[in-house]
Amino acid sequence: MKIICVGRNYAAHAKELNNAVEESPVIFLKPETALIRADLPFYYPSFSSDVHFETEIVVRIGKLGKNIKQEFASRYIDAISLGIDFTARDIQSALKAKGLPWELAKSFDGSAPVGDFKDIAGFTDLSNINFKMSLNGVTRQDSNSSLMLFSIEKIISFLSAYITLKKGDYIFTGTPEGVGPVAIGDRLEAFLEGEKVLDLQIK
Ligand code: ZN
Repeated sequence: MKIICVGRNYAAHAKELNNAVEESPVIFLKPETALIRADLPFYYPSFSSDVHFETEIVVRIGKLGKNIKQEFASRYIDAISLGIDFTARDIQSALKAKGLPWELAKSFDGSAPVGDFKDIAGFTDLSNINFKMSLNGVTRQDSNSSLMLFSIEKIISFLSAYITLKKGDYIFTGTPEGVGPVAIGDRLEAFLEGEKVLDLQIK
């Protein structure tokens, strides 16, 4: 399986990092070794001193697709959850300053915890999904998919023109504003439509 991620997909988040709003989605990948299954801990990496959380809606692909039309895109999703796109912001800032790819800052081991999935049948409108994340019991990100610059359907259509989507692939759909650092001892809880799907300890 592969993990495909979208960057800068919420205007308020692009602004908080002083990034331009792009005309097409910004795409990067994480390897399978980035994945942390539900409720296993995240181990703070030694190579960074500024790891940030980014709470994102994650869609799971249910069948093979290439050149998917936007109006049919929802048929290729079988479940939805939330994930954390952990980002070594210090490394990313250095890479961005040199115009280099972000992989070392975004794709390291454990950089993609994903929560429990909820069946797609429970979602009637992909453009109205509520989600939030609390850090040590305090809400830090609270948003809705209606605020995405590129909708979930648009992302699937766009991506599938370049990369064949396969059953079991995950797509991280970008973070809203409110990102910030984590520290050893922190606890992140993520809620999808009010239901807790991820409970993550930082060790
Ligand atoms: Zn992200």
